[in-house]
Amino acid sequence: MSLVNDGWIKTTCAYCGVGCGVEARPKLSGELEIRGDKSHPSNYGKLCTKGIALGDTVIHDGRLLTPIEKSQSGDKILDWDSATQLVADKFSHAIERYGSDSVAFYVSGQLLTEDYYVANKLMKGFIGASNIDSNSRLCMASSVVGHKRAFGSDTVPICYEDLEHADMVILVGSNLAWCHPVLFQRLRTAKQINPDVKIVVIDPRETENNTIADYHLALNSGSDVALFNGLLHFLNKHDHLDHDFIQSSTNQINQALAAAESDDDRLESTTGLTRKQLNRFYQDFAHSDKVITVYSQGVNQSSIGSDKVNSILNCHLATGKIGQVGSGPFSVTGQPNAMGGREVGALANTLASHMEFDNSEHQALIREFWQTDRLATKPGLKAVDLFDAMADGKIKAVWIMATNPLVSLPDSAKVKAALEACPFVVVSDCIADTETSRMADLLLPAQGWSEKSGTVTNSERRISRQRRIMPSPGMAKPDWWIISQVARKMGYHDAFRYRHEGQIFAEYAQLSTLGNNNGERDFTLSGLTQLDEQGYNQLTPQQWPVTQLQTETTNQRLFSNGEFYTANRKANFVAVHHREPQTACNDNFPLLLNSGRTRDQWHTMSRTGLSARLAEHKPEPYVQIHPTTAKEHSVKAHQLVKLHNAQGECLARAEISEQIQPNQLFLPIHWNNATAKNSKPCNLIAPQTDSHSGQPEFKHTPVALTVCQHQSRATFASRTALNFNSLDYWARQKIAEGYLYHIESTLSADKLANYLKSRLKHNIERLVSHQSSEGSARFRFIALTADRVEQAVHVQPIQDEQRISELTDILSTRFNQESESEILLSL
Ligand code: SF4
Repeated sequence: MSLVNDGWIKTTCAYCGVGCGVEARPKLSGELEIRGDKSHPSNYGKLCTKGIALGDTVIHDGRLLTPIEKSQSGDKILDWDSATQLVADKFSHAIERYGSDSVAFYVSGQLLTEDYYVANKLMKGFIGASNIDSNSRLCMASSVVGHKRAFGSDTVPICYEDLEHADMVILVGSNLAWCHPVLFQRLRTAKQINPDVKIVVIDPRETENNTIADYHLALNSGSDVALFNGLLHFLNKHDHLDHDFIQSSTNQINQALAAAESDDDRLESTTGLTRKQLNRFYQDFAHSDKVITVYSQGVNQSSIGSDKVNSILNCHLATGKIGQVGSGPFSVTGQPNAMGGREVGALANTLASHMEFDNSEHQALIREFWQTDRLATKPGLKAVDLFDAMADGKIKAVWIMATNPLVSLPDSAKVKAALEACPFVVVSDCIADTETSRMADLLLPAQGWSEKSGTVTNSERRISRQRRIMPSPGMAKPDWWIISQVARKMGYHDAFRYRHEGQIFAEYAQLSTLGNNNGERDFTLSGLTQLDEQGYNQLTPQQWPVTQLQTETTNQRLFSNGEFYTANRKANFVAVHHREPQTACNDNFPLLLNSGRTRDQWHTMSRTGLSARLAEHKPEPYVQIHPTTAKEHSVKAHQLVKLHNAQGECLARAEISEQIQPNQLFLPIHWNNATAKNSKPCNLIAPQTDSHSGQPEFKHTPVALTVCQHQSRATFASRTALNFNSLDYWARQKIAEGYLYHIESTLSADKLANYLKSRLKHNIERLVSHQSSEGSARFRFIALTADRVEQAVHVQPIQDEQRISELTDILSTRFNQESESEILLSL
């Protein structure tokens, strides 16, 4: 396979866990052309809107370009030697004075495997603590627990092509259409080719998934365990169990069956589904030979997420619908390299490379391999506990890499207090201004997607190369290089002497083979240990286990032989019971808030927020409200509403929709203080977690809702970013050549107009303005230099029914003096 052809370079998408192959070609202008890689087995040339827009996000606008030490006396630019020395000194000092558990890394599924490996090696191998946790804790941790309990290993057994071979595909707690769009496209095509394939959507909310579904089960929020226990009981009662498979390949079914049966009498009231609906689903599962259950954050992000996962796995084990073509449970991962982090072991409760703390042989193998006498021997703090310990003053130095916990962790106020309480906060990121970077004592400029080189693993265990396409701006460096420099300055010179990311990968591949000669663990890269630099550079996608270099696309299913990775090589059923989520709605907080993603944004928008075309889909934070609920709370469409509870508050624009059930709300996770005022869902979400996985409950938050009593609203287009924090509400949208601010205020329209007029740039050549001739307070201004608009503003009273000007094209419009008033009136 040619990796460079006519200037096109093969790489991998930066966003979701589908891991689509991308071809990118830099243009002389500095822009990047993007197209899907037709040879990549994840996507065969297809890309979703986010992937297509990757080129829009490689602009240098907003990049962090130098190491910066921040202090009360001002910011100081450092060279790399001083910056990495400062980190090494602060971490070494904290360890010396307070012990190795006083320092922490909080890392990310955005890191490449090589970055992850070096960070994990430094923390667990040489600092000798396990306080390294990943933001994957927020999306995948419950699946990891479920897999390990059932299979004895953290294994996703299926291949993507199984979606095309299944008789029935169940989408539970997964908005596949928006969150993993290319997989959804593959499933939609499979349904078009074979309309007999049954597709069942299980979700409290109606989503785009429904467009291909045979039926939708809008179950009560949090009742998945009851639903799947009901299925297990049905399968048993109606003699649909695979007794041969159960006998030869599983342990402990009787306890699971007993638990399932004991939940059955409350099944309808718990799930909110009728017996007829349930029976239809159960019959379809029982009578379909090949079933895939796709699940994601609706299952994982729950205080009983691990049990939800095992309730699904129990049904596949009970029917032997696992490890076969077109059959199996499929945990689809959220982040581009969440799987890589799990494989490396960069979570606080795993040691390294699918080897565990509680196995002394594993410890000895790793100690010997890394040549260290400081190997951590017990788990560290999981994400929420880590920030709690920080708030309590127990963490003296933290290094946050490629993630934005002040936006993404629950209870933002507490996370902020934790970062304030921590004496030394390092943030390495490619973006200069994030909520978390504002809290840093030291900022380190990391490379962005198009500059990084390494590997990522997708949801079907396929490892793909991410390749360097463009030079890095400023002083940006690879994360693995930054970590290695710090490690060397902490005294671990020999263990971190890497010159190239390929060396790290080869070492990592070698680690996966330790004590693994006879297939003790399914994760092995034994076929890649001999890769040289050229081989690494030319590496084509490899699906693990990799026992020899794969020169053609392979599709390997795990557990096909009925063997698992527990002590007796049989899978475990796990007896689980339905439990209600930890917090229920009450008179004060009567509405149930669900959170999730929109189609065209990624996480905290620090990258996708740079694309004008992606911003068009949902320009402002919004909350979905059922028409009945809207009526009860006197909410009209497009009004700004305030959601609040004991945790905090959040502003969003009402989107009235029958896709959501009455008394439930849906709020996207993306907006935060860098892109809007007071519109961050994590202000509302309590830090309640699954006791096994530590994963927070993001999908079940009781809130109250009130309509904002604002007097005026405005749109303000500007070539440069502005600060409107003194106003009641603003949200920023990227548009061509600048930004568009959506504003609301308790000020009258004329006062808001005066204020916004005062915010126009001072160096404009002329200002033209217009007030509505009817005397109503509707104001328009444009600030001009030569033939281009620098800024444009439209203000009107909130009760004015007339649609406010969107101004999305105004900055890219060229015009002359004669057309000024025409343009003003068109605002
Ligand atoms: Fe990227 Fe995921 Fe879209 Fe593929 S489906 S292009 S990996 S965001």
